[in-house]
Amino acid sequence: MAKVEFLTAQENALFGEGGWDSVLVISDKFALTNHSELTQLVHHAASIDHRIGKQATVLLAPGLAGGRLVLSPTGDLGSDYEDVRRVYEAAEKGIKIAYESGSRRPLLVLDLSQDDSRYLHSAEVAVLGCGQGLYLNADVETGEQVVIGLMDGQDADKLNALELGRSACRDLCGGDPEQMAPPAFADYCVALFAEEPIKLQVLDDQELLERDYPLLSAVARSSFAVPRHSARVVRLEYRPEGEVTQTWFIAGKGVTYDTGGADLKIGGAMAGMSRDKGGAAAAAGLMKAIAMLKPQGVRVVMELGLVRNSIGSDAFVPDEIITSHAGAKVRIGNTDAEGRLVLADLLSHLREGIAGAVNPKVFSIATLTGHVGRAYGPYTGIVENGVSRLAQCGRVLSDIGERWGEPMELSRLRREDFAQVAPRSESEDLLSSNNGASVNISRGHQFPLAFLLKSSGLDSYHTGSENPVPYLHLDIASSAVEASNPLYGKPTARPVAALYAALFEM
Ligand SMILES: [Zn+2]
Repeated sequence: MAKVEFLTAQENALFGEGGWDSVLVISDKFALTNHSELTQLVHHAASIDHRIGKQATVLLAPGLAGGRLVLSPTGDLGSDYEDVRRVYEAAEKGIKIAYESGSRRPLLVLDLSQDDSRYLHSAEVAVLGCGQGLYLNADVETGEQVVIGLMDGQDADKLNALELGRSACRDLCGGDPEQMAPPAFADYCVALFAEEPIKLQVLDDQELLERDYPLLSAVARSSFAVPRHSARVVRLEYRPEGEVTQTWFIAGKGVTYDTGGADLKIGGAMAGMSRDKGGAAAAAGLMKAIAMLKPQGVRVVMELGLVRNSIGSDAFVPDEIITSHAGAKVRIGNTDAEGRLVLADLLSHLREGIAGAVNPKVFSIATLTGHVGRAYGPYTGIVENGVSRLAQCGRVLSDIGERWGEPMELSRLRREDFAQVAPRSESEDLLSSNNGASVNISRGHQFPLAFLLKSSGLDSYHTGSENPVPYLHLDIASSAVEASNPLYGKPTARPVAALYAALFEM
């Protein structure tokens, strides 16, 4: 892959000082009031080429760094329905053109006429867009290094750490079923955190997993026979120096391949299911950024459930009743609704850490349902418990996501959601799902939270309890990979940047 690094550039870098070899301008109107040296050139060029300002173009620009000027327009930012993704996408497009033109040391310049709160972080978001544009899958080795010069006062250290976290997330999410099978995913994490102040533990013993993670192990049952597909749980912990003022507990779904299990995905529905590990990938990517930036005040504890949902003679099947780690008897409704089973045991273990934790918040991140995409399109769905809703955590997180180019839609948990998972006989406490595809079930992305609350024991931390704890479930099934190509496209690394920002704002 091309290695990308961000560096603060000096004032006169535009004219080549510092060895920069192109200037990339992201703009809505190309007014360039802060860069009068560019105004005349752009306006002259626009008079002979009407594509300028409408699509990304390269101009010959003698005297400027590298003699190349790349212009990438955002389009109109003034509409009430636009957001900072316009800036992200223009940067992504522009940096690709700069790279293809031969530039390896481009300078990034931002020139936006809009400065309302939607565009508060546009300078940082443009840099993240460049990272996305230059990312190639982990197995593609170009040997190239690209250094991007920042001209708009961005914090290069912070953006380098975020980009490393986002790259790790993309590597983990995008790896094929063998490259990123559970043991390989866990090994990647071990290497990722080897030099970082992160406590890491990999659970790989089948007997221990079957005892302590019974629902997760049911999903993994037919994969245990193949050592390279065998399940793993990765535990990560970051402890800040100084006083802890809040504790985040995060469960990440890492289904490294989802065949659907005995409820096999048929009719072509299986392709792309190596991306069913985007939640665990995002959690690991977030932890990488945290490890490098060492934020104060917040302790972060994660459990990543890495499982392959295989099919075979030992596969778990619908109608089985399995007792969760928290003690709930769960009747399996559909083996393709496996993500919630993996999360339930992870959340139950995290729950045990709540007692004694300062100001705890719980999250789950998962590519959980087709329904979230049917309901919202390419957005992350947030579903939250009552404590979180009263504290407006979901609204705050969705506002943060909006400003970081990782927009989210907020859903409300309802009584019908609990009815969907209510027991159907005296033998069980819960039904994991009904037996249709989530995409065809009404409230298909909301009701899994009812299951997660009940199966993990987190339902006892409700508003009226002695210890109410906010819990937010993020369904990234249709936002973890670029919407234009969900089967084979690039992972987006969402919502790593928004969650990092939320550490300080929630
Ligand atoms: Zn599934």
